[in-house]
Amino acid sequence: MKKTCEQCNQQFEVEKKEIEMLQLLSPTIAGIKFDLPEPTFCPVCRIQNRLAFRNEHSLYKRKSDLSGKAMLSIFAPDSTYKAIDQDEWWSDEWEPLQYGRDFDFSKTVFEQLGELNLAIPHMALSTKNVENSQFTNFALNMKNCYLVFGASDDQDCLYCRILLGCKDAIDCFTVYDSEIAYEGISSKNCYSCMYFKNCRNCSESLFIEECDNCKNCLLCFGLRNKEYYYMNEYVGKEKFEKLKTSLQPLTHEKIAELHQKLLNLKKDLPHIASHIYACEDCSGDMIFNSKNCQWAFDVSDCENCYYIAGQKGSQNSMDITYAARGVRFSYQLCAATGCVQSIGCFLCWDCSNTFYSIECQNTSDVFACIGLRRKQYCILNKQYSKEEYEKLVPKIIEHMQKTGEWGQFLAKSLSHFSYNQTVAQDHYPLEKAEALKKGWQWRDEEKTSQAFNITPKELEFYKKHQLPQPILPPNERYKSRLAKKNPMQLWERTCAKCNAVIQTTFAPNRPEKIYCEKCYLEAVY
Ligand SMILES: [Zn+2]
Ligand SMILES: [Zn+2]
Repeated sequence: MKKTCEQCNQQFEVEKKEIEMLQLLSPTIAGIKFDLPEPTFCPVCRIQNRLAFRNEHSLYKRKSDLSGKAMLSIFAPDSTYKAIDQDEWWSDEWEPLQYGRDFDFSKTVFEQLGELNLAIPHMALSTKNVENSQFTNFALNMKNCYLVFGASDDQDCLYCRILLGCKDAIDCFTVYDSEIAYEGISSKNCYSCMYFKNCRNCSESLFIEECDNCKNCLLCFGLRNKEYYYMNEYVGKEKFEKLKTSLQPLTHEKIAELHQKLLNLKKDLPHIASHIYACEDCSGDMIFNSKNCQWAFDVSDCENCYYIAGQKGSQNSMDITYAARGVRFSYQLCAATGCVQSIGCFLCWDCSNTFYSIECQNTSDVFACIGLRRKQYCILNKQYSKEEYEKLVPKIIEHMQKTGEWGQFLAKSLSHFSYNQTVAQDHYPLEKAEALKKGWQWRDEEKTSQAFNITPKELEFYKKHQLPQPILPPNERYKSRLAKKNPMQLWERTCAKCNAVIQTTFAPNRPEKIYCEKCYLEAVY
């Protein structure tokens, strides 16, 4: 069914299987099933709206609103929201239920959630189980990391974004399960690779792209199961070692030259429409070991999911952006992990049957709550009995159906941040006027100093791998990696060889030669 997006006015399609998925995700409370309506925003606007909640990396020095302790926070000192130190947030020094209030049927849920949002303190940084890892946010199970954002289960990593299960990674973006990685983008299971993009199962290689199961390759594009290749040609062990040694030590001039060489090499070579490995019936890009996932980006081990990005192990869910350890039977979540049967939440971890809530941890059966830990049967942070909860929630959902809030993600006004503080600005850049017009906040930030530190740990890494020290600050380096990565959006175009209809992250106006999987495999093998 064709619909027009209420945000961008573009046409979008709601497929039959999406409607079936919404049926599956519609919750039953006190024996009543509450149908989820079809989305009113297009897939891209839905991702954008969720990302506009997520401030990964704008960090400020400020004081804790609980103890006055100096701390680092994603909340600016002049933010209208209260922020407290993470250790304090997890402690018993404050009680989230103290902010509880009665539900008021003369107001919308989002209005009331907005009032609670302003009253209650928030976590200075969203981290859990991080050890010796300063300047990390949206980070879970980390050890000895620095300036790593959107990450889980990493060790000894620096300056990375969206990093899962990595060790010794520096300057990487959406890299999973890799070790000794430098300047990697959208890759998985690589070992000792530098300057690599869209690669899988590669090792001991430099300046490689779109390679799968390659070892000792240099300046190669689109190879599979190869060793000792240079510029896509077999050179043998001896010559390869010589060529590799001749590059060392790498200088910025040499790196620019090598990038240009790779660019020239790949210019006329076919590109695969999408990078989908060991999958069945999937669309999107960088999908590993998954089944029946549509519009999926940078995901692995997922099944029956639509419109998902940055996650591992999700099942039967729709519209989920960033869920490190996956979610199940959930809808419209952002920065949520380990959630089950939850809808419309931001930053909720390990929750079940949690609806329209923010920053909740290990809750079940809660509705419109913020900052709760291990609670059940709460509404607007007020504790109810099971019976009271089951009596009130159906009425609230009916109220939301009338106000049009039911089935939507959280309202823009509930985001703690201005559009340009969030990753939405990275992926969907807007001018100030445009962002304000669309209902987001904007923050005029002073230009910060471009000075940056080089830590002893990275110095050691550069020395060991004969790499030059970076010239640009970490955020600029991240931006150049982001520019090299294809967007989280699919376009329909035709295979340059057989004219079959394909779905790809390469926009139709891009110059690359895009092949369907069949034609690509014929060309590369
Ligand atoms: Zn739209
Ligand atoms: Zn084709």
